[in-house]
Amino acid sequence: MAEAKKVDFTGQEDEEPPGTDGTINEAQEEHPSKAEEEPPGTMALRNRALFFGNIPDESWKDWKWHFRNRITTVEELSKFTTLSSKQQARLKLVCNRYPLSITPYYICLMNRHDPNDPIMKQAIPTFEEMSMAGMGVEDPLAEASYSPVPGLVHRYPDRVLLVLTSLCPMLCRHCTRKREWHHGGWVRTPAEVEVMLNYIRQNRAIRDVILSGGDPLTLSTHRLEEIISRLRDIPHVEIIRIGTRFPVVLPQRIDDELCAMLSKYEPIWLNTQFNHYHEITPESALACDRLLRCGVPVNNQSVLLRGINDSVETQTKLCHGLLKIKVRPYYLYQCDEVQGTEHLRTPVETGINIIEGMRGHTSGLAVPTFVIDLPQGGGKVPLQPNYIRSQTEGEFILRNYQGRILRYRNPLGSNHHGKGRCNGKRVTEPMAITGTPATYQSQPTGVTSEDRAVVRS
Ligand code: SF4
Repeated sequence: MAEAKKVDFTGQEDEEPPGTDGTINEAQEEHPSKAEEEPPGTMALRNRALFFGNIPDESWKDWKWHFRNRITTVEELSKFTTLSSKQQARLKLVCNRYPLSITPYYICLMNRHDPNDPIMKQAIPTFEEMSMAGMGVEDPLAEASYSPVPGLVHRYPDRVLLVLTSLCPMLCRHCTRKREWHHGGWVRTPAEVEVMLNYIRQNRAIRDVILSGGDPLTLSTHRLEEIISRLRDIPHVEIIRIGTRFPVVLPQRIDDELCAMLSKYEPIWLNTQFNHYHEITPESALACDRLLRCGVPVNNQSVLLRGINDSVETQTKLCHGLLKIKVRPYYLYQCDEVQGTEHLRTPVETGINIIEGMRGHTSGLAVPTFVIDLPQGGGKVPLQPNYIRSQTEGEFILRNYQGRILRYRNPLGSNHHGKGRCNGKRVTEPMAITGTPATYQSQPTGVTSEDRAVVRS
């Protein structure tokens, strides 16, 4: 019989013998050695049978049951993964500052025999949240200073974000609004929402409203409809967007009642956050399909996370999986400088290298835009590999995804013919040649297509 393996999700060494805490270990359970090769959802089915075998289908399909039965204490968590008493004590310390909440659905996606499991790393606290808490800031995007009324963030001219609640079905360890977790669960009162709506009514430049949180789908469908219908009554609001992780962490929320309501108020767009292909399951696929069928396009905004999805291979598998369920890979976010998330942040170069490894190697539809949301409310900046090797008068020298260097001639009448001017305005400065000098030879404009391959590498 195999000895129980101590799986440490807490960021701490632990020398206690396996099974000290009486939790389930490998010796008590059959599990496959190559979970990666299983069809999506197989792990979830096995875990459901193991941990929730007595829960009838009717309850399992009910999002409110999952919400009520979230795992919120270290004691409950220890039923699902091996945690020594020392580890439990440390996690309790972390949870005093950064609480724990995982839905039964989501915890069933984990492979608890894998210490690097991407589901566990997103959901289970680690001591590094405390030990590295000196890094980062509570509100890196300075949302508080861009809030003209409580809960409404107005950073860009034509759109606003409404923070309707601090509640989420799962508390993601990398959350940008982790600061709100200190303040307990709250939902904006009708009076507070009315203040936000008045602000939007009075600002005719606002054409796009994002419902956010926390997770706005924690509100009842009835309460959501009250807010959405009143937004729809504002003539200059063209688009309503919902930012939610429910399709990923509790897809049962996308039920008939919600879909019927949303379908009445189009155009509504929904942005969600799949971070790993293990999150794409039959249930999450069904949730996205339901949204699409009721007229709500679904985009994905994943967060780049150390040890979770920070490789070309993982991102490519994630984005291919998303396209298969008709979800558009939209953004790949650099993880914000949030206190308590430093251990999950990657160097900026990692994101750029991932895009480089995807662009051209797969369909452009599968390649998200890598962005940094700048500190102090600077807004999003897209970052990508530099494909411009140089810019001369009349042409660009470009590098393709294979590393080939090619010329691209600007059409006659472009700004270069006006010596860098277009409609009287200076638009660009010639760029320095950054490649190896030998790769670039000056050539007159008007070259034929055969001449354009400057070098192959
Ligand atoms: S769902 Fe979003 S708001 Fe909620 S904890 Fe996760 S990242 Fe934060």
